[in-house]
Amino acid sequence: MVFLKTEDEIELLRQSNLLVGRTLAEVAKLVKPGVTTRQLDKVAEEFIRDNGAIPTFKGFPNQYGEPFPASICTSVNEQVVHGIPGEVVLKDGDIVSVDCGTYMNGFCGDSAYTFCVGEVDEEIRSLLKVTKEALYIGIENAVHGKRIGDIGYAIQQHCEAHSYGVVREFVGHGIGKEMHEDPQVPNYGRRGCGTLMKRGLCIAIEPMITLGNRQIVMERDGWTVRTRDRKCAAHFEHTVAVGVDKAEILSSFKFIEDVLGDKAI
Ligand code: MG
Ligand code: MG
Repeated sequence: MVFLKTEDEIELLRQSNLLVGRTLAEVAKLVKPGVTTRQLDKVAEEFIRDNGAIPTFKGFPNQYGEPFPASICTSVNEQVVHGIPGEVVLKDGDIVSVDCGTYMNGFCGDSAYTFCVGEVDEEIRSLLKVTKEALYIGIENAVHGKRIGDIGYAIQQHCEAHSYGVVREFVGHGIGKEMHEDPQVPNYGRRGCGTLMKRGLCIAIEPMITLGNRQIVMERDGWTVRTRDRKCAAHFEHTVAVGVDKAEILSSFKFIEDVLGDKAI
C-alpha cells in the first residue's frame, strides 16, 4: 500500500531527515585513521537521542528476527550495507559507508553517505563520485507522472556506463511513519515501468554500487552484506518527496559537506 503524504506530513519527514543529515555531519567530524566504527556509532546515538529522536535502526529485525545491535550501519570497503559497528579500526585509504535512521514526531528519516578515511585511491574516489552523481540523477526522475522504473533506469545507466556493478538484492523504499513502506525503489529498471509516482509520494533513493562485479554475499553475522569479489562498494541515500516538476530532497548532505570542506567528493 502506497501512502501519499500531505504538506504537513512532508514537513515532519523533513525534520526527521534533517536530523539524520546533522547526525552524519557529527560522524564526519570523527572519521579518520585510528577511530573505531563503534566510536562513530556512540556519537551518532548520543546526538540522535540528545535531539529528542530515536535511532530507528537499533533493534530493527533482520530476516531471522534478530535485532540490529547499533544505531547506525558502518560498512567498510568491500562491505556494501548493514555493517555492524564494532572494534574495526579505520585506516588510511579505507572508505566507510554510514547509513543512519531517525524517528521523531511520528516520522522517519533515512540517509547514507560514503566517507573517505585519509587519502583514498583515485579509482575508489571515482566510484564514490559516480555513485553520488547517480543518486542525484535518480532524484531528477522522482517527479509526478513518471514511474519508479525511470529512477532505476537512470541510476543503472549512469553507473554501468562507468563499468560499475549495480546491486540488485537491496533497494530503496517508500518512507513515512514506517522506515520501509511501499513501493520498492530498485537501482536498476526499465523506463516507463513500475509504480506511477504521484505528488506526495516520499521515497528513499539509495544506489549501492560496486567497483567490480555486482554479486554480493551475506556475512555470518546475518547482517553485513559485502561484495563477493571483495572490491569496494559505495552507498549514498537521500529521502525525497515527489513533486510536480521536481523532487524535494528532505534529507541533506550540506551539514556533512560543511564539515568535509574541499575534501568532499
Ligand atoms: Mg538508509
Ligand atoms: Mg533506506
